[in-house]
Amino acid sequence: MCIFCKIVNKEIPNYTIYEDDQVLAFLDVNPTAYGHTLVIPKKHYESFVECSSDDLNHVMEVAQKIAKKMQENLHCDGINILSNVGEQAGQSVHHFHVHLIPRYKDSDVIQ
Ligand code: 5GP
Ligand code: ZN
Repeated sequence: MCIFCKIVNKEIPNYTIYEDDQVLAFLDVNPTAYGHTLVIPKKHYESFVECSSDDLNHVMEVAQKIAKKMQENLHCDGINILSNVGEQAGQSVHHFHVHLIPRYKDSDVIQ
């Protein structure tokens, strides 16, 4: 079973940001910036390309809500929203996920 399926099944602990029956959002274990969050469908899809339109829509709706919360609560100055498809593009976990990376004017780097 893939590592994100194990997170969905609660076999691996995570810091959950949002959860419903279809989608899970949790903090990235190796954050690029403070608040770096991953949004995933609970169902396993290899990547963005294979994801069903229903799961894709819901993942993106949740991602948008979290992005708004990042602006309100983290007061970030920008947000990267991205998904890597394939190892050549940097995908290391082969369960579709969207990265939400808040960006800060003064302190973008985690020490
Ligand atoms: P990718 O490189 O596939 O686009 O992104 C995978 C992301 O998953 C990486 O940013 C990595 O830090 C994160 N990651 C890998 N394993 C775990 C884990 O067990 N828990 C959490 N929270 N994040 C993970
Ligand atoms: Zn999986």
